[in-house]
Amino acid sequence: MLNSDIQYLKGVGPKKAKKFKKLGIFTIENLLNYYPIKYEDRRTVSKINEMVDNTKVLLKIKLFNTPEKKVIKKNMTIIKVAGRDDTGFVTLTFFNQDYLLQKLNLEDWFYVFGKVKYAYGKYELTNPDIEKVGKDKKAGRIMPIYGLTYGLSNNEITKAVKNALDEYYSKIEDIIPIEIKNKYQLISRRDAIKYFHFPENNKIYSLAKKSIAFEKLLIMQLGLLTIKNRLRTSSQGLKINDSSLGDKLIASIPYKLTNAQLKVIKEIKEDMRLSKPMNRLVQGDVGSGKTIVAIYAMLIAIKSGYQASMMAPTEILALQHYDTIKGYFKIANINLNVAFLSGSTNAKNKRKILDELKNGQIDIIVGTHALIENNVEFSNIGLVVTDEQHRFGVRQRAMLSNKGNNPDMIVMTATPIPRTLALIVYGDLDISVIDEMPPGRHEVITYVLNENQKNEAYSFIKKQIKSGRQGYIVAPLVEESENLEIDSAEKIFNELSNTYFSECKLGLLHGKMKSSDKEETINRFYNDEIKVLVSTTVIEVGVNVPNAVVMMVLSAERFGLAQLHQLRGRVGRGKYQSYCILVNGSKSKKSSDRMNIMKNTNNGFIIAEEDLKNRGPGEFFGTKQHGLSKYEVQNIINDVNIVQKVQLLSKKIINENPFLDKEEYINLKEEIIKLFKNEDVVFN
Ligand code: ADP
Ligand code: MG
Repeated sequence: MLNSDIQYLKGVGPKKAKKFKKLGIFTIENLLNYYPIKYEDRRTVSKINEMVDNTKVLLKIKLFNTPEKKVIKKNMTIIKVAGRDDTGFVTLTFFNQDYLLQKLNLEDWFYVFGKVKYAYGKYELTNPDIEKVGKDKKAGRIMPIYGLTYGLSNNEITKAVKNALDEYYSKIEDIIPIEIKNKYQLISRRDAIKYFHFPENNKIYSLAKKSIAFEKLLIMQLGLLTIKNRLRTSSQGLKINDSSLGDKLIASIPYKLTNAQLKVIKEIKEDMRLSKPMNRLVQGDVGSGKTIVAIYAMLIAIKSGYQASMMAPTEILALQHYDTIKGYFKIANINLNVAFLSGSTNAKNKRKILDELKNGQIDIIVGTHALIENNVEFSNIGLVVTDEQHRFGVRQRAMLSNKGNNPDMIVMTATPIPRTLALIVYGDLDISVIDEMPPGRHEVITYVLNENQKNEAYSFIKKQIKSGRQGYIVAPLVEESENLEIDSAEKIFNELSNTYFSECKLGLLHGKMKSSDKEETINRFYNDEIKVLVSTTVIEVGVNVPNAVVMMVLSAERFGLAQLHQLRGRVGRGKYQSYCILVNGSKSKKSSDRMNIMKNTNNGFIIAEEDLKNRGPGEFFGTKQHGLSKYEVQNIINDVNIVQKVQLLSKKIINENPFLDKEEYINLKEEIIKLFKNEDVVFN
């Protein structure tokens, strides 16, 4: 069985199994799904006289002399021997591999694989992989290199995968029905897995990868569409259609809505009027004016006799919404009971708010995660709004809507997603896009500097501080480790505090700070006590300090463009001209092209399309949301064509067979339930 414990696999045992478990590999299935991150091509034998310094080569050699072992120091031995083919000689050096002595016979041929170094007029391979010709397992093949190994060697993982394939290959069943496989030219699941680990050539590798990506995407997309379907069909929603209060608000605010805002309001109105629950994503760049659209929708719900709620991922953001709503209602002379609830609301107030929510006295509740706690009950909630949804999972959204009788739902996000991908990433939602900015905005001016020009940027920031403004400095992104990223932010903070910014107050913000410390720092920045905030990417969302006018990003080339765009969205929020300074630490043409895109446009959708072209679709799949690992997202799902094909296919399948109850879908269904085990995917 594929779900049997890894420790019973040939060559593993309980001790090694513990190490595998650290990698998240508990079963044979897990192991087979632990894919290589790259490969080593050992297909062609090189001649010694054709070797190029600093490249990896496979040689077929005989030994020229008897190997000598020397003890260099305690615990360190060295074996040196010369190898030859018919074109020349090469020195082989092995550290601490005494066991080789008895294998290195003069009459045998060997394959050696390793990196060539040229020094003192000689070519040398240090610690090459060596195997006797005839007993070779790796020469002539493309060998997998696995990412993290946690105390296991790459060889040990490779061997385990090989043994697992030997023993279980025939037990790997297909998940995708055969007609679909044929139509899209996918290979069997067992072959896809086999050749993704051990590709024999580029063609079979591409086929294997395509088949695996197709399968993962299909499972994900069918799951999302099933959720959407269930929300739409199995439940009776509310009919909500009185927009007179919303219109009253629009008539009193000091600006005119953009056409894009009006278009989205229309889409929302039409959707709310229907008796099925609305599940709508409102996508719009930072500053495009999503809030007023959401408030309009809340007013429709309230005027139709329901309550409404708005949830934001941080207390600061939630408070801002609360103030905004109260402010608008005051201007428009709208008398409604608006309340605020967060983790820091004191017990007495909280009790009062919970009571009033339950008996219907509160019309609108604004707050944080606190809104989804069990003790929060509504009298009749009609609309649930969630802001900056990528900080919340599908499940958290669902929890809020479960507090009513299928209320309508709006999710707002400022993360632009290329149109081609939106459907698959947000497959469970309908989408409205605010693709136009209110008129008269100062565009943020973007500069691109190189490493040597950092000082100029610091002087520029100092000048801005002198004239009363504030700024951000974002530390380089370290994808592999949050800890390293924090280290680098701390280092920059210390360095700048002692040099350029020794006279003004700096603050430090990162993800591992206690949340009360984080809030305190942000508050002090907001109150202008901190002039420059040195931060990791945690400030991406929800910090709104209109007086901050400079966003400087160090090693900007490491960030996705969409991410840089989000960071840039932290400035340009007030009446002052704002600036974004990107320090490009790379000299490559590709980096400077990417930085120039940032310089030339402030349109998040254009930027997202560029990211898609450059970095592939993986960037746009929130790993948290869909149960895919970061690795899978970056290395397997990186072909837009496949994403689009799966999207169309999934729709067709769900239209024809909404509950996937045909015999041929039985395995697919099982996998979908596994992937969405927390989201209650139900097929009935
Ligand atoms: P976001 O989409 O980022 O949530 P907000 O809703 O916070 O944007 O709006 C940003 C700012 O723009 C707010 O101060 C809001 O009052 C203002 N605003 C919204 N719509 C318009 C408009 N049509 N014309 C002018 N200003 C607008
Ligand atoms: Mg907003």
